[in-house]
Amino acid sequence: MTTIFDKILSGEMPCDEVFSDNKCLAFKDITPQAPTHILIIPRKPIPSLQDIKKEDQELLGHLLLKGTEIANDAGLESWRTIINTGEEAGQTVFHLHIHIIGGRKLSWPPG
Ligand code: 5GP
Repeated sequence: MTTIFDKILSGEMPCDEVFSDNKCLAFKDITPQAPTHILIIPRKPIPSLQDIKKEDQELLGHLLLKGTEIANDAGLESWRTIINTGEEAGQTVFHLHIHIIGGRKLSWPPG
């Protein structure tokens, strides 16, 4: 199934790009929930964590490492890394993505 993130990856839809390499793309969330809200997506079309395979291990590590670099580059000392998995957990776009959210005090537990 084609998602909005596939269209961003192909250039069909614009995004406010933060970082790009041959494995992933990072861009600002269109509806930011905090002063910094960046999404990191793999170029590989994996719908969610429910679909990851052993062969994705290196890619997943790459996404997390990039998340820390991107958070540091954004000047964050504290941030939250979120991967919503499945509709009930709040996933709305079924192309795996990591949220990097920071720049304000975040409450816990989540709603
Ligand atoms: P989810 O709810 O699936 O974990 O997160 C999807 C995120 O994608 C949401 O935070 C939403 O604001 C963001 N989003 C949805 N459509 C677009 C878009 O067209 N451009 C950007 N930059 N973000 C989007």
